[in-house]
Amino acid sequence: MVYIRATGRCLINVHTANTEGAVGNYMALSKTFIVRRVDGGYEVQEEPVISGNMIKHWHAVATIDILRSWGYNAICDSCRRHVMYRSVLGLNEEYEYLRKCAIEDLHGFLDAAKQIRRESIVKFSFMIPVEEQRSEFSSITHNRVDMKPDGSVGEAMMVMKREHASGIYGFLCSMDLAFAGVSLANPDKMLPEDDRKIRVKAAITALIDILSGHFGAAQARATPIIKTIELICIVSKKPIPNAIHGFYGDYAEETASIMKTAIGRGLVKQDEMRVAAVGRPIDIFKAEGVPVDGVKTASEALAMILEASEWWL
Ligand SMILES: [Zn+2]
Repeated sequence: MVYIRATGRCLINVHTANTEGAVGNYMALSKTFIVRRVDGGYEVQEEPVISGNMIKHWHAVATIDILRSWGYNAICDSCRRHVMYRSVLGLNEEYEYLRKCAIEDLHGFLDAAKQIRRESIVKFSFMIPVEEQRSEFSSITHNRVDMKPDGSVGEAMMVMKREHASGIYGFLCSMDLAFAGVSLANPDKMLPEDDRKIRVKAAITALIDILSGHFGAAQARATPIIKTIELICIVSKKPIPNAIHGFYGDYAEETASIMKTAIGRGLVKQDEMRVAAVGRPIDIFKAEGVPVDGVKTASEALAMILEASEWWL
């Protein structure tokens, strides 16, 4: 069974992936404070961000669609409808939830009525503008014109304004898929191997959806215009530390150093892990002496990680 770490950077133009509801007819992007290292200290600025919750939701949606397309149906009725309550199943123990639904298994749950919970084994950080460059935003006006039969404009015109942002965004994902189908409360209980394998494969495959911009609000009008310009994707048979978030200017150097240390200290053997990378990180990993497969696109990298993970499933 496998552990996955993915970190990197996406260039995203004109997204409105996360907003904070409307004030009148104005919809503002979700923003929060970002701390950057600058000459002689630190600087704090408020900027548009994309929440980990948003990314995680769409990862769950992609996982469901992939599993169903493969004919796998251990998905509860709510998740099947892409409404991830996680969980209103009202069962008697954690293991029963895993058996019933792949999303309760991979993405965790809290059944508030039963007070039964499971930690998510799929974890996403916020996507935030990178250390070297701010993300800028402005509002775009949308309207609908009510045209009368004589060509004059009626009174039902609706004007609304919605903020959109562009920038280079860092991301980070960690998936401890070794625990797919395994009860965390009672690890002696686990699903049959076939269930566990198909869930792991779907969770990895679903990352391709995320990195191709299938996430966020208002996708019908503003699907993120995205290009994954840098990616480090690691699959390991043994537990490994987290990668460093793509926000930091030196995230690739530090992630390479973490992996070099993990191998050097015997946490994982070289033939028990594989790294696929896109862009600048390829040479950085080579310079650190960590084996890496350089590829051109995120989907190629994830396909390679999926193939490698099959050796250890
Ligand atoms: Zn479910």
